[in-house]
Amino acid sequence: MKHLYKLTIKEASDKLYRGEITSVELVNSVMERIEQIEDKVGAYITVTRELALEQAKKSDERRKKGRVLSPIDGIPIAVKDLFNTKGVRTTAASKILDDFVPQYESTATKKLWDAGAVLVGKTNLDQFAMGSSTETSAFKTTKNPWDLSRVPGGSSGGSAAAVAADMCIAALGTDTGGSIRQPASLCGIVGLKPTYGRVSRYGVNAMASSLDTIGPMTKTVEDAAILLNIIAGQDKYDSTTLATKVPNYLSSLGQDIKDLTIGIPKEFYGKGMDSEVDMIVKNAINIFKERGIKVVEVSLPSVKYALDVYYIIVWAEVASNMARYDGIRYGHSKIKNQKLVSSKSEGSKIKNLEDVYITSRTEGLGDEVKRRVMLGNYVLSSGYYDAYYKKAQQVRNLVKQDFEKVFKNVDILLTPVSPTAAFKIAEKTDNPLQMYLSDIHTVPINPAGVPAMSIPAGFTKNNLPVGIQLIAPQCGEETIFKLASAFEKVTDFHKQRPNL
Ligand code: GLN
Repeated sequence: MKHLYKLTIKEASDKLYRGEITSVELVNSVMERIEQIEDKVGAYITVTRELALEQAKKSDERRKKGRVLSPIDGIPIAVKDLFNTKGVRTTAASKILDDFVPQYESTATKKLWDAGAVLVGKTNLDQFAMGSSTETSAFKTTKNPWDLSRVPGGSSGGSAAAVAADMCIAALGTDTGGSIRQPASLCGIVGLKPTYGRVSRYGVNAMASSLDTIGPMTKTVEDAAILLNIIAGQDKYDSTTLATKVPNYLSSLGQDIKDLTIGIPKEFYGKGMDSEVDMIVKNAINIFKERGIKVVEVSLPSVKYALDVYYIIVWAEVASNMARYDGIRYGHSKIKNQKLVSSKSEGSKIKNLEDVYITSRTEGLGDEVKRRVMLGNYVLSSGYYDAYYKKAQQVRNLVKQDFEKVFKNVDILLTPVSPTAAFKIAEKTDNPLQMYLSDIHTVPINPAGVPAMSIPAGFTKNNLPVGIQLIAPQCGEETIFKLASAFEKVTDFHKQRPNL
């Protein structure tokens, strides 16, 4: 059978079930695809070919004995290189973790392997997930498979590109302010940021702990439901995980949507939005209207502050979380075997412990990370704490309350994901503010903690994919799945694949 790499989780799982293919064949096909196009796309930091084949063989053996573990048993999945994977190099796309091999497994990935999934490799990202284009990676910039001169979005750009270019069957990403949804939109795939606390963050390098979430990046809405079923749930290693029962998300698919009301928050439309994106989003709204859904305009007045609030909180939490990368315990270091390592020119610089910290961090961390650590320490410092950090937390509450209020009247919100389609490589690297603005529509969701999904909704005249964002109240993933699957059923944007 040819081109198995094109399959979705559901299709591959059915074929495995019927005995038409083996997991080893599937993995070989995905590996061949990676060999053919990885040079062009650059989606991976590490490809785990041998491990994948080993896991696939085991899956096939289990299947022969009738001991299939789950719908993802034997399915090749890619993982953003921010998840700690035991025995597999995990870099966070930073030099400071260049040769770091974790001794433990993140909960989300452990759940994948316990369900029989196969690890294809670790995907590229913005360094420590800070960025919107993968350009802050210390290793490479991933290219958008739809146009290799453009970015795939970020920070989970490697995962998004790998899914879009069929270099894996599905992937995991993380989303602190848009890092699943924005690259999903820019690469034409499905990306779900679940409710904060729905999926354990244990073992995933923390960026901003009160905003970080983990979710599926897939070719279809159904595949996202399959993956969320597996990774969701309370975890004793992450006290912020929710105790609420995890529903079977698959049962939301194809359900009646006629009684639902969609809210169109006016703050997400207008200034700065590309006209083609505007048209695509309006077209999507019409598709829902044609299905008999009520659509009403709503307002979230505090959302205009969300980007400012987001960055102050992110900087503060980043400054705190990054303190552990000190060049002593692990990662890039100026001290090895209790001896200072210094080249001749550095000899004079490294004299004591503080010099070790400073030099290790100066060499190991990228510019965007440093920028955030410095700004974070600034907004947390005495005298500024009340003016910035405390104020940001207060306004964060207002943003949250706006969402709570609006969801008393509507079931879901529909907005653009990003104001534009994929931008050119290097177009925004010299202008952090421009880069930050590309997340203007995804960022407000994380301070509110609610779930949101990006689904493919159209293409620009340059054949670049554009997604729409569906936002639900706390633990409202089922409503998202209902509407997203209904949309997918009557459109074929998700079936388009880039020509590579
Ligand atoms: N682009 C946003 C940022 O740089 C979001 C990143 C993320 O969600 N990890 O902060």
